[in-house]
Amino acid sequence: MKKRIIVFTGAGISAESGIKTFRDSDGLWENHDVMEVATPEGWARDYELVLNFYNERRKQALEVAPNPGHLALVELEKEFDVQIITQNIDNLHERAGSSSVLHLHGLITKSRSTIDENLVYEIEGTEINPGDLCEKGSQLRPHIVWFGENVPNISIAHEMCETADILIIIGTSLNVYPASGIVNFAPRKCPKYFIDPKAEKIVLVNNLNIIKENAGTGTPTLVKELLDNA
Ligand code: NAD
Repeated sequence: MKKRIIVFTGAGISAESGIKTFRDSDGLWENHDVMEVATPEGWARDYELVLNFYNERRKQALEVAPNPGHLALVELEKEFDVQIITQNIDNLHERAGSSSVLHLHGLITKSRSTIDENLVYEIEGTEINPGDLCEKGSQLRPHIVWFGENVPNISIAHEMCETADILIIIGTSLNVYPASGIVNFAPRKCPKYFIDPKAEKIVLVNNLNIIKENAGTGTPTLVKELLDNA
């Protein structure tokens, strides 16, 4: 049976595709305070600004392409059972060809109802506009988990991590909770790798190999090593 690899990714894996991370921009997300554009309070204050912000992010995400980091993870599927868990809202893992991707914080290409979170839609084109309504008549919002909101996929992510034979963490500051806590659910003995130019030891996570490199170079190197030894 193939060994199971859980890959946990953050904004850093998409940086070399041209999508900015926000810790690297002084806590601003494309020049916006995250409290303005990524909270329910921000939505209540000025929903048109929030819609515009994600319309721009969506256009950008569709213009860029997967980089060697995303592509290497697809190669890994040749010898391993690979499950990606991403904090990213872009769809670059899917566009690279990864077959199993769980999004913890939603997906930029989808919209959802503001009165029924189960009503989720593919966005036709690139925009959600004021007046675009769900089938129950409420304004559509981006299908994104904002700060202060529940993370519906967190339990399933915990269960996935518990099944890891190997854990790979890529391009995340591990500053966003509860998402970052999932790394603690991997078995103690399972080998773990952390690829990020700012990677550091993680409290309570043992058997951790720190790879202080960009995703675009560090990931293909690690993938080759794992495939050679599979
Ligand atoms: P973060 O912005 O907090 O941290 C980014 C991390 O990426 C840092 O540790 C940084 O050192 C690392 N990094 C920068 N360039 C890198 C590279 N080339 N290769 C590897 N690592 C690199 O990101 P986060 O931890 O993912 O948390 C931010 C939240 O913001 C997430 O929840 C995410 O939903 C959202 N976000 C998403 C995107 C996206 O979808 N692409 C972009 C920005 C923010």
